[in-house]
Amino acid sequence: MSSRRPIVAANWKMNKTPAQTEEFLSAFLPKFGNSCGSDAVIVPPFTSIPAAAQALAGNTVVGLGAQNMHNEANGAYTGEVSAEFLNALNVQYVVLGHSERRQIFGETDAFINQKVHTALGANLIPILCIGETLEERDAGKLEAVCQTQIEGGLAGVAADKVGDIVIAYEPVWAIGTGRTATPEQAQEAHAFVRSVVATTFGADAAAKVRIQYGGSMKPGNAAELMAQPDVDGGLVGGASLEADSFFEIVSAAEQSVA
Ligand code: PEP
Repeated sequence: MSSRRPIVAANWKMNKTPAQTEEFLSAFLPKFGNSCGSDAVIVPPFTSIPAAAQALAGNTVVGLGAQNMHNEANGAYTGEVSAEFLNALNVQYVVLGHSERRQIFGETDAFINQKVHTALGANLIPILCIGETLEERDAGKLEAVCQTQIEGGLAGVAADKVGDIVIAYEPVWAIGTGRTATPEQAQEAHAFVRSVVATTFGADAAAKVRIQYGGSMKPGNAAELMAQPDVDGGLVGGASLEADSFFEIVSAAEQSVA
C-alpha cells in the first residue's frame, strides 16, 4: 500500500454554467463528513469558478482547480487567464497540458513547461497531463512519448518541488471514448512514469509524486484502477458531471488506501 494520498479531480471541460455548478455542489458537498481519505478537486470552466469558490468557501475537504492558464502575468493575450486571476478566486490546482489543449490548441511541451513554472511560482499545484495516442501506442512509442512529455513539461523544476506536482497519465485513446486502459496497462504506464521521475528528479520526488489515471474512469472501473500500486487517483471527465457518480469515484479512492 502506498503512503500517497489519492487525488481525484473532476474535469468538467466546457460544461456547467454557474447555476449548474451550484446545483452540483449543493448535491455533492453534503455527501462528505468533516474529512475525506482522499483529495477531491472540482475543476469547472473559468466562468463557473467564482460560483464554485463561493460554494466551497470554508470547506477544507474539497479543492478547486482550473482547466488551464497562461504563463504570462498579464498583457495582450486576448482570451487568456493568469495565475494571479486564479489566486484571487482561491483556486489551488491547475490542469496543464491536457490532450485536448495539446491536440486542438497546439500546445507544446515548451509552452506547458512555462506554465508549470508560473503555476509553481504562484503556489498553484499543476496537474500535468501526459499520454500517448493510439497510433503512438500501436507503434510501440508509449514510453518515448511519455518520457518526452514528462521531461519537457517539468524541465528546470527543482527536484524538491516535483513531489508536490500531480501527473495525470491519460492515454488519449481512452479519453471520452468509453475505452479504458486495463488495470495492468495503467499500472505498467504509471510505473514507467514514476521511473522517469526517479531518473530525472530522484527517488524522493518519485516516491512522493501522485500519478492520476485519466480516460473513461467511472464508478464501475475506478476501484480496480486505483487498487494498482502506482495509480494514485483519477482525472475524471464524463463521469464527474453527476454528483453521485463522482462521489462514488472519490469513495473508491478512499477505499484504495483503507
Ligand atoms: C479527461 O478529460 O481528462 C478525461 C479523462 O475524460 P473522460 O473521463 O471523459 O475520459
